[in-house]
Amino acid sequence: MSTHQSSASTFRRLLGYLKHYRFGFLVAILGMIGYASVDVFFLSQFDQFIDRGITQRDMDYLALAPVAVIVLFLLRGVFHFIASYCLNWSGTHIVKDLRQQLFEKMLALPVSYHDQHSTGELISRITYDAEQIKQASSKALVVLIHEGAFVIGLLALMFYNSWQLSAIFLVIAPVIALIVSHVSRRFRQISNNMQGAMGQVTSSAEQMLNGHKVILSFGGKSLEAKRFEEVNNSNRRLDVKLEATRALSVSVIQVIASFALAFVIYLASFPEMLDTLTPGMFTEIITSMMLLLKPLKQLTTVNSDFQKGMAAAATVFSVLDEMPERDTGTRELDRVQGNIEFRNLSFNYPGHDKQVLKDINFSVTAGQTVALVGRSGSGKTTISSLLPRFYEVEQGEILLDGINTKDCTLDSLRRQIAVVSQHVVLFNDTIANNIAYGFQGELTKERLLDVAEKAHVMEFAGQMPKGLDTEIGENGVTLSGGQRQRIAIARALLRQSPVLVLDEATSALDTESERKIQAALDELLKNRTNLVIAHRLSTIENADLILVMDQGQIVERGNHSELLAQNGYYASLYKMQFGETA
Ligand code: ADP
Ligand code: MG
Repeated sequence: MSTHQSSASTFRRLLGYLKHYRFGFLVAILGMIGYASVDVFFLSQFDQFIDRGITQRDMDYLALAPVAVIVLFLLRGVFHFIASYCLNWSGTHIVKDLRQQLFEKMLALPVSYHDQHSTGELISRITYDAEQIKQASSKALVVLIHEGAFVIGLLALMFYNSWQLSAIFLVIAPVIALIVSHVSRRFRQISNNMQGAMGQVTSSAEQMLNGHKVILSFGGKSLEAKRFEEVNNSNRRLDVKLEATRALSVSVIQVIASFALAFVIYLASFPEMLDTLTPGMFTEIITSMMLLLKPLKQLTTVNSDFQKGMAAAATVFSVLDEMPERDTGTRELDRVQGNIEFRNLSFNYPGHDKQVLKDINFSVTAGQTVALVGRSGSGKTTISSLLPRFYEVEQGEILLDGINTKDCTLDSLRRQIAVVSQHVVLFNDTIANNIAYGFQGELTKERLLDVAEKAHVMEFAGQMPKGLDTEIGENGVTLSGGQRQRIAIARALLRQSPVLVLDEATSALDTESERKIQAALDELLKNRTNLVIAHRLSTIENADLILVMDQGQIVERGNHSELLAQNGYYASLYKMQFGETA
């Protein structure tokens, strides 16, 4: 019962999307009814044709018949075209609207949501599920309206010819309805499972495509293939189950209908019956009954298609109903100076019990550089993602120029902060557009060249035939790691934000790129407040404040020489990491 309930409300919500396209939709329905009416009308002329044309040899009537056939089929074709076109027109509009909403919703969802849902799963919401709603719903609609109108027409025709013979249909109709409702419940269940399985297929394929190189180098080919085989096969099994249920129900219903047909033929053989029927009428009744089988079969599965569409719609709506990133702040920050303070801050990731940060306290004055050092997993990246409020802080506060970041609007807060992470994300566009990505305001050619120069991007871009206008391919595949980083640095330089969050790359670069990046970084660190997750000795040594992290806590703080003099955790960490080089 609850599934019916929820599918009813899902349906109502889906209808809401139809509002703007209801004219096209209405025309489609009229087209379908017209299409069915032509068919019924055609059949209703059979008795005349047989009784008047063939039996009584009415020549005028027989001469008219061929013309009528062509006219009728012309009309039928026009109705069919209008119905298909209009239905598809409104259907594609709805798919487009849903996709756009999903896309924008996913943009607006908090980072924690994306942490918990795989890219493959989310992509399949936008591609497969959205399309499924249209496919299934329009199929259900065509069957319901077109075949429904056809069935009603046929029944009317039968009853008009002989209600005694036709009454048998009133007996089998409830039996069929019973089977339909049972079957559809099962269908909904299987459809739901199938959607989940489809999500697994895409997410597993996506994982393979993203990690292709890693899989090759670690010899994981057979493992991945086997894992995929499992989800792939469970998807197939569900598909078979769905089809088997469908086929079985169709067969059962047809057998039941055949009993009705047999009974009618038996009844018609009684002399009293034969007296009331002309050969034309009898032909019409039998033909109607035969013709009823196909739409009846389709009407049986209409609910399954409808349920499939509703299941897809329910999944799509569940994404649309997710709470977007909370932007409770109302304060619009102008350009801040860049004083940062973390006050009594503790944190655990949403949905995880483990406390990742414990009672963090520190402050940085504008223009200074803080280096976060510590073993991996100690909470450095977490600190850097809390500053731009990628996650909500529940305990303690973060102040920017003395203003609680919670009180600021997300847009204005994030405008203050440039983030350069280890994982440089580049877009499939030119170098210039990648540097200018998200830049608001007037951008002159000189300004762009200036940052490209400062970030040492020109050194390699200058050698390319199209310079900064060179296309770099998807995620910058044509560039080396060092080149990608320099583009990211240029992007941050251009924004001139007062605060910089920098996650230095740990991966070893060759000394040449290392030197170039260092030079670019030095330029970037100038004149702003920097929060650096530091791996390079030079960054650490030059930092105004070093925070040594261990298991979510700041265990030591001070500058390089102070900390070395303490001869504690930092000193041992330093020896371990830079022992040979120092
Ligand atoms: P570091 O940057 O110092 O290596 P992190 O801040 O990345 O450390 O991680 C600190 C802890 O938080 C680790 O135990 C890690 O497993 C956990 N963690 C990191 N990111 C997430 C996340 N998105 N969801 C849940 N736990 C996370
Ligand atoms: Mg990290």
